[in-house]
Amino acid sequence: MAALFISDLHLTARRPAKLALFRELLRRAAGRVEALYILGDLFEVWVGDDDDTPPYTEIIDALLAFSAGGAPLYVMRGNRDFLMGARFEQLSGARLLPDPHVAELYGQRVLLMHGDLLCTRDRDYQDFRDKVRNPRWQRRFLSLPLFLRKLLGRFARLRSRLALRGKPAYLMDVDPAAVERSMREHGVRLLIHGHTHRPAVHALDIDGQPARRVVLGDWYEQDSALLLDAGGPQLMRVTDCLRRLG
Ligand code: MN
Repeated sequence: MAALFISDLHLTARRPAKLALFRELLRRAAGRVEALYILGDLFEVWVGDDDDTPPYTEIIDALLAFSAGGAPLYVMRGNRDFLMGARFEQLSGARLLPDPHVAELYGQRVLLMHGDLLCTRDRDYQDFRDKVRNPRWQRRFLSLPLFLRKLLGRFARLRSRLALRGKPAYLMDVDPAAVERSMREHGVRLLIHGHTHRPAVHALDIDGQPARRVVLGDWYEQDSALLLDAGGPQLMRVTDCLRRLG
């Protein structure tokens, strides 16, 4: 059996077709994959585990139905849902993974990341990330009333959209030097990440060794999924993945 990887679904009540596609994938994957890894930005926005407005509860129920089937469900926080915590884990049956995380899969070490940490050329973003990943900042934010957190979440989206407008494309991609550094540091020859919405399998050379960087696409348009088994990684569209799972 293969392990299934997805990321950057950006699930929201505003895109009901993607909610249905995700539920379908979970249903089809149950009992047919060794494990499911969601590498960040499962949700368009997450302002705290206590937010039970649609579509959060139905997604969490679908996650729980999958994890109750026995295959492990691993979820990494992305830059949109970095506030997922212990209550989310309990309700969904998912295990939250640190970023970066090394998994031992089919006899090889595989480095898993959301991908934003590799975009080191965007200093403004990395400064913002440092700020909001600080436990003190998070405790303060999570102590605000839910309606206010939702409002601030929307405001942050708007601000980030405006900031993106002025940024050149190369800033939004990974820094090849950061990729090499991370892979060397963790002693891996396979890296899987999302975030940049540029799905691809990149062949690399790290210290004279062949290596690969697999980038998962988003679910806005690309509907990207990856199956990994002893034969290697296979990047495909979710519809093809559903067919493969049978
Ligand atoms: Mn992201």
